[in-house]
Formats: sequence, C-alpha cells, structure tokens
Amino acid sequence: MIGAGTVGASCAWHLQRRGANVTLIDSELPGQSTSFGNAGCISKTSVFPFSHPGVIRKVPRWLLDPGGPVRIRWSQLPRVAPWLYRFWRAGSRGRVAEIIAAQLTLMEHVVSDFDEILAATGSEHLRATRGAILLYETEAGFAADAWKYRERERHGLSWRRLERDELAALEPRVRLGSGVALFEPLWQHVTDPGGMTARFADAAVERGANWIRDRVKGIATDPAGVTVDTVSGRRLRADRLILATGVWSNRLLRPLGFKVPLMPKRGYHTMFAQPAIELNHPVMSASRHVLLTPMAGGLRISGTAEFATLDTPPDYARARALVDVARQFVPDLGGSGVTEWMGQRPMMPDSLPVLGPLPGREHVVCAFGHGHYGLTQGPTTGKLIARMVFGEDPGIDLAPFSITRF
Ligand SMILES: Cc1cc2nc3c(=O)[nH]c(=O)nc-3n(C[C@H](O)[C@H](O)[C@H](O)COP(=O)(O)OP(=O)(O)OC[C@H]3O[C@@H](n4cnc5c(N)ncnc54)[C@H](O)[C@@H]3O)c2cc1C
Repeated sequence: MIGAGTVGASCAWHLQRRGANVTLIDSELPGQSTSFGNAGCISKTSVFPFSHPGVIRKVPRWLLDPGGPVRIRWSQLPRVAPWLYRFWRAGSRGRVAEIIAAQLTLMEHVVSDFDEILAATGSEHLRATRGAILLYETEAGFAADAWKYRERERHGLSWRRLERDELAALEPRVRLGSGVALFEPLWQHVTDPGGMTARFADAAVERGANWIRDRVKGIATDPAGVTVDTVSGRRLRADRLILATGVWSNRLLRPLGFKVPLMPKRGYHTMFAQPAIELNHPVMSASRHVLLTPMAGGLRISGTAEFATLDTPPDYARARALVDVARQFVPDLGGSGVTEWMGQRPMMPDSLPVLGPLPGREHVVCAFGHGHYGLTQGPTTGKLIARMVFGEDPGIDLAPFSITRF
C-alpha cells in the first residue's frame, strides 16, 4: 500500500481490519502531504464536476483578476493545455449528468463511512456536524448556479436559503452585502485533517500493519504478485498493491505502461493560530471560491486553483491573497501565529477519482485522483478498495472510475 494520505490511510485501516497483512509505505509521515492542509470539509453534496456548460466562459475573467480563483503559470501553458482540453470536453451536458450520477454513488456513503472509521479509531472529537454556510455575492451569481440546487433537490441533498437575521445569528462576523446566504445542513468538517489521517494510519498499525517511511522508485508485476523497490534499497513483495499516491501517481504508473490525465491543481491556505475572530461554521464564498474553516489549531482560509506542474515552487502570495479576498465578506479577519501552506489536489478532467485494478496488471489497484474531495471520499474509498481486494461486490458500479475511461 503506497501513500499515507487520507485515501491511503483509510485503505490501510479497512484492509487491516478485514484481516489483510498490510504494509503502508510513504516518504512522508501519514497525513503530511495534500491531506494535511485542506479545508477539512466533508461535503457530501459536492457532486458536480468542475467542468460544466458555461464554465469556460468564466475563466478569462477569473484569470485576469489577481485575487481570482484560477491561475495558470503561463510558461507552463503548453504542458497544461492538453489537460484543459480534456477538462472542457468533460463539461458537455450529457457527460455532466453521468459524472453527477457517479459521484452520487460515492457521496451517498461518505457520512456513514466517516461515522464508522471515526468511532473505531477514537477520532470522533475531530469532527464537527454543525453544517456550513455558503455565500453568493449577488442574486445573479446564485441564479447562475440554480441548476445545481434543482438537481440536488431531485436527490434529496437538502439546503436552505438564510434570511439576513438568521445569518447574523449563526455567523455575526459575516457581511453579506446584497448577496445570498445558504445553509448546508449536510456538510460536516474535520478540525485537524492531518491529525485525523495520522490516527487512521496509527490505528492500522495498532492492529498489526507495518509502517515504512521510504520512497518507492519502481513497481514490477508478475503473475503471482507485485515487487516494490524503494530508494533506500528495500525490495518488498505483495500479492496486491494499492496505489494511493495522490498527485504523484503517474510517476509510478508510467513504467507500468499507464499514464492518466492527472493535473496538480494547487491550493493554498493561510492559518491564524490565534484568530482575531471566531467562526462557528465553515463559511464558503461560492463566488470567490474561498473557504474559512474553524479548526482545532486556529482559523484556516483556503482556496485557489493554480495550474502548475509538479515540483514548481509554491507562490505564497496566493495564500496571502486569500485573506484579502476573505476580508470582503469577513471584514474583521486577522490574528497572529500565521502559517502558509500549499497542496496539490490530484485532479482528473472529469472530477472523478480512479478506482480499481490496472487492466492486465490486476495485482495493482488504483485509489487516487480525488481532486477537491479526497478528504470527503477517503473512508468510502478505503471501504470499497477493501471489498475489491477481498473479491467482494464493491456495492457500486466502478465503471465510471476505471482507468480505461480516457
Ligand atoms: C486548499 C485545499 C483545500 C481542500 N479542501 C478539501 C475539503 O474541504 N474537502 C475535501 O474532501 N478535500 C479537500 N481538498 C482535497 C484533498 O485535500 C485531497 O483530495 C486529498 O488530500 C488527497 O488525498 P490523497 O490521500 O489521495 O493524497 P495525499 O494526501 O497527497 O497522499 C498521497 C501520499 O502518497 C505519497 N507518495 C507519493 N508517491 C510516493 C512514492 N513514490 N513513494 C512513497 N510515497 C509516495 C505522498 O508522500 C503522500 O503522502 C483540498 C485540497 C486543497 C489543496
């Protein structure tokens, strides 16, 4: 099992609990990569792909706005362009309907799968179940997304519009202006995503899993199983290998003859360990794509979609810009003990993860590409992968998540 992010740690925990003999390998400590600094939201209602009809028309405006949600490092455009083309293709009306249907099959289970793993690992205190608040700057902005709320209602994914006095009672620090506020009762949030992930990995180890801190440099398959070579010279054998290597997955897939359109979609956060204000819920600007989350370690402001290749140095000006943007709806935002962070969402053009065995090399099982929802879908992925490994019916149709869909 390679990768100890939320996805890999969840897979390790489920597999070990089912009686598999698990070895978990990561070059970093569990939960210290992308799974460390995310916004912490278990967003069950996020079933919509990022590419959909009309989204491309918004991109030029976003790119021209220095505080806008999307950024491309122009020197890297030739390397990013083929992915953007696939992204655009995934946004046709028919494809969007298929993607929503596939996401619903995963999202249906995310809360109960969190209930299970949090209870079993003694991590329940790391989750808050108060819902979240979503803001639109204008009625027109809300109207442009109305199709999403109609679609959600068809699937029982409830939401409600907040009156101004209700918003003031729930979040007195938020300024709505002439915008629209919604309450998301089905959202939950994790107050320490990195710590929670480490607990999942630790719980697997307590049940007998082996933990190895090392970097995998190569994988070879044969009819009986898989051989893994690490940079420190270890050679490990397994009858099954789970690839939960997030945004780095192509580096291990390429020598096996596979390459997926996996884009690092970078996000940033700024965190105030001692915030000047308190928020009671995650508050997200749907117009600005910035999310404020009250965490155990302070107040986290996260967002941004920056397209740049792996290993491009972070630009922490993006993290600082998030705070300026957030002050437009939380004017008193500030505090001390500031830290900044960058993480790379493993993003597929159709916003769906890659789950399941590699064709022709069935001993290798993919569990990566969760994009914006790897925290939300980590425990559910772990459960599905364990069912697959034990030869059981995974309980959902895995065809939409196959590596062969591209
Ligand atoms: C700003 C931001 C906000 C976000 N907010 C949310 C949110 O609110 N809700 C949500 O659901 N998701 C959110 N996400 C997305 C979420 O963080 C990711 O989808 C998730 O962390 C991916 O988890 P993972 O386990 O696949 O990858 P990772 O956490 O990146 O783990 C992969 C691991 O594989 C290891 N690895 C890779 N290659 C090798 C190798 N060769 N040898 C050994 N180890 C290797 C890496 O070291 C790493 O630890 C957000 C992301 C960002 C950037």
